[in-house]
Amino acid sequence: MWKADQLLNRLYEEAVEAHRAAAEAESREGRRQQLKSALASAVGSFEPSLGYEPVVLERVQCDGYMRERVELSATSGLSFAAYVLIPEGAKSQQLPGVLAVHGHGYGSREIVGLLPDGTEDHGKPNIHQHFAVQLVKRGMVVIAPDVVGFGERRLDADLQENPDAPSSCYRLSTQLMMLGKTLTGLRTAEVLEALNYLADRPEVDAARIGAMGFSGGALISYVAAALDERIKAVVLTGFTNTFKESIFAVHHCIDNYTPGLLAHAELPELIGLIAPRPLFLESGQNDPIFPVEGFKKAAAELQAIYEREGASGQLQCDIFPGVHEISGRVSYNWLRQTLSME
Ligand SMILES: [Zn+2]
Repeated sequence: MWKADQLLNRLYEEAVEAHRAAAEAESREGRRQQLKSALASAVGSFEPSLGYEPVVLERVQCDGYMRERVELSATSGLSFAAYVLIPEGAKSQQLPGVLAVHGHGYGSREIVGLLPDGTEDHGKPNIHQHFAVQLVKRGMVVIAPDVVGFGERRLDADLQENPDAPSSCYRLSTQLMMLGKTLTGLRTAEVLEALNYLADRPEVDAARIGAMGFSGGALISYVAAALDERIKAVVLTGFTNTFKESIFAVHHCIDNYTPGLLAHAELPELIGLIAPRPLFLESGQNDPIFPVEGFKKAAAELQAIYEREGASGQLQCDIFPGVHEISGRVSYNWLRQTLSME
C-alpha cells in the first residue's frame, strides 16, 4: 500500500474512538473542563496588551443608529479597529450587545454596509448580508471587529507581492504555527478584547451579550463562546459540521486547521461546550464547503449534547435555500428574543 488513504481513515477512526472512550471515562462536567482546556491550549495564547486606552476614530449618524469606529488592542504591539453600531434610543435603557464576526472578505466594512474604501454600499449585500446592520436595526448594540488577515489588516509582505491579495491567512497561520501559536488563537484573543470593550459600554447590559459569526467568523465565535461564559447566546452560520465532512473533505483555508485539536474531539463536541447556553445553527442547503449532510450530522450530535445538559429547547437550527452565505430569516429575531429574555 503506497498511498496513505487508508492510513488517514484509520487514524481518524482511532481518534473518534478515543474521544468516545475519554467521554465514557469522565463525568460530563469533567469531560467539558478537559475539552475546554484542550481547546484553549490548542489555539494558544498571546501576551495581553497592558495600559492601552480605546480610541474613538470616527462617529457617523446613520439611518436609525450611530456608527462609531474604535481602535482596540488585545496583544502588545498590535491594535485593531472595530465598528460599534448603537441603536437610536440606547440612552434610555441598557440594551443587549452582540459580537458580529465576519468571515473571508474585505473586513468588518463588509458587514456594516460599507465598501472596502469606507464609503456607503448602496448595492445588493453580498453573502455577509450586512448582518451587523440587520442586528442593530433589531435593537442590539453590535461590535464588528476587523479580523486580522483581511482588508486593511493584510500583511505588508502579502500586499507587496499582490496588492489585491485576498487575505494574509496563509502567511499568518504558517508562521504562528511554527511558533506554537495559531491564527485562531490570535483572532479569538481580539474578539474577546472586543467583548471586554462592549461589556464596558454604558449602552450595553453586560449580562446580555451574544455572538454571531459567519464561516471563518463562526469558527472564532464558537471558540470565543466555548472559552468565555460571558457570551450568553450564539448564532453560527455557514460553519457547523464535522471536521471529516467539511475541512477534511473540501479544500479550505489553512486557518481552519488547528494542530492537534482532533486528538481531543470532533467539531460537534467542541461546539457543544457552548451548551447549555442558547445556540442557533444556520446552513445553506447547497453550501459547497460546509456540506449540509455534515451539518445535519453535527446538529444531531449537538441536539444529543443539549439533551444531556437538560437544555434541548436551547438549540435551534435553520437549513435555508442557499449556498455559503448568511440567511438571517429566523436567526436575527431569535438572537434578539433570546438576549431580551436573559
Ligand atoms: Zn483564511
